[in-house]
Amino acid sequence: GVAVGRRVRSGRRWRRVLGVLRELEEAYETPVARLRQVVDAMAVEMHAGLASEGGSKLKMLLTFVDTLPNGDEKGIYYALDLGGTDFRVLQVQLGGRRSSILPHSVEQQSIPQDLMTSTSEDLFDFIATSLKEFVERKENSSGYSPEKRRELGFTVSFPVKQTSVSSGILMRWTRGFAIHDTVGKDIAESLQLALTRNGLNMRVVVLVNDTVGTLALGHYHDPDTVASVVIGTGTNACYVERTDAIIKCQGLVTTSGFMVVNMEWGSFWSSHLPRTSYDIDLDAESPNPNEQGFEKMISGMYLGEIVRRVILRMSQESDIFSAFSSKLSIPFILRTPLMAAMHEDNSPDLREVDEKWRQMLEVPEVPKKVRKLIVKVCDVVTRRAARLAAAGIVGILKKTGRDGGSITGSRSRGDARMRRTVVAIEGSLYTSYTMFREYLHEALREILGENIAQHLVLEVTEDGSGLGAALLAASHSSTPLPPNT
Ligand code: BGC
Repeated sequence: GVAVGRRVRSGRRWRRVLGVLRELEEAYETPVARLRQVVDAMAVEMHAGLASEGGSKLKMLLTFVDTLPNGDEKGIYYALDLGGTDFRVLQVQLGGRRSSILPHSVEQQSIPQDLMTSTSEDLFDFIATSLKEFVERKENSSGYSPEKRRELGFTVSFPVKQTSVSSGILMRWTRGFAIHDTVGKDIAESLQLALTRNGLNMRVVVLVNDTVGTLALGHYHDPDTVASVVIGTGTNACYVERTDAIIKCQGLVTTSGFMVVNMEWGSFWSSHLPRTSYDIDLDAESPNPNEQGFEKMISGMYLGEIVRRVILRMSQESDIFSAFSSKLSIPFILRTPLMAAMHEDNSPDLREVDEKWRQMLEVPEVPKKVRKLIVKVCDVVTRRAARLAAAGIVGILKKTGRDGGSITGSRSRGDARMRRTVVAIEGSLYTSYTMFREYLHEALREILGENIAQHLVLEVTEDGSGLGAALLAASHSSTPLPPNT
């Protein structure tokens, strides 16, 4: 009698957990019709963001980048890549002929914790000193000369409102930085002043977003590259736009007739996005509520956290997770790389899941059906993210008339007018999370149809935020340096 009673109760509890799962699956469903609505919304918001300042949640920032590297670049250039909690310095040697390998050296340094919340001057003095030491080391063999002029591409993976190709105002920090006196100031100028203060003769020639660097590197390798996407800790995209379509900037003229636009698509929003209480709570408890809505559904910073919230909810419905619940309430304890590892566990009996889960929460063995449940939740969350990212990409194709349909509504969704379109892509979610990548590709094919999808190439570039910035420094330096100065 007692044993049967326990079994009945446990059956009921399990049913409640499955109920939570079913609800999640339904809410996160992204059938192709819904994805098409997201595609349309993306294209519409792109128009709106280009039409007027503040016309859309999509900022559609001008970059003033109007030429992309084509392989003719020559000389030695430097890059500084300020992304997350570290920064990287690069020296790149360009031989004037496109080559699949760009000879370069890189050094990475983490930013001391106290500097991340200190003053702008302290941060940039630290960076300038490290950069100077790097340059001295690199140039020592050929005779370091303080007078020599050097040119630098500066990558900042935060929203910047550019005022020219080499200057721009930092709109806000994200991801742990809180140096208040940098916000609202020209970040390139802050760096330039620090370089001068520290006696390094180097000019900031271009200031770019990481997506713009990625586009530049992609274009260097393949001239059909017209857009780029980054899906890592954060997410964003940029693309090549005709200047006459940038209505908010009347009279904008460039010799090429185009300009790269930094979409800051992380802040895209549409009522067609499938949103649940998990998303709403995550947003409300984040340091930037009501901002970066698309990013919070897609990028590596948040996917693990969504999974944690779902499983916490399940654990409140039933005691099958009871042993875990205390640590499970710690926000961000489940990081996305760990989530990916559990999701892609191929070991017998999902042993990896068991091990990872136990390590994370310091709990005893995880029952097998619970392991399966964890994998399932990861799957649902990642699938939505990847499919929404795919819809975002098709949105760009649609805006630029490369989706095989036509903005004026042509009858032929045929492939006759389709041009080959390359999108450069970077970020750990795409490159290191196989299921994410596969779901993204699958959704692209569903939305576009096989015929059209075959003209679209997603090309992984490597270190566009560093190498691309150096390439752009080369193609935008007004007085190209002879190769050996
Ligand atoms: C930032 C973007 C950046 C993206 C990818 C986002 O959080 O707002 O500027 O391009 O992350 O690194």
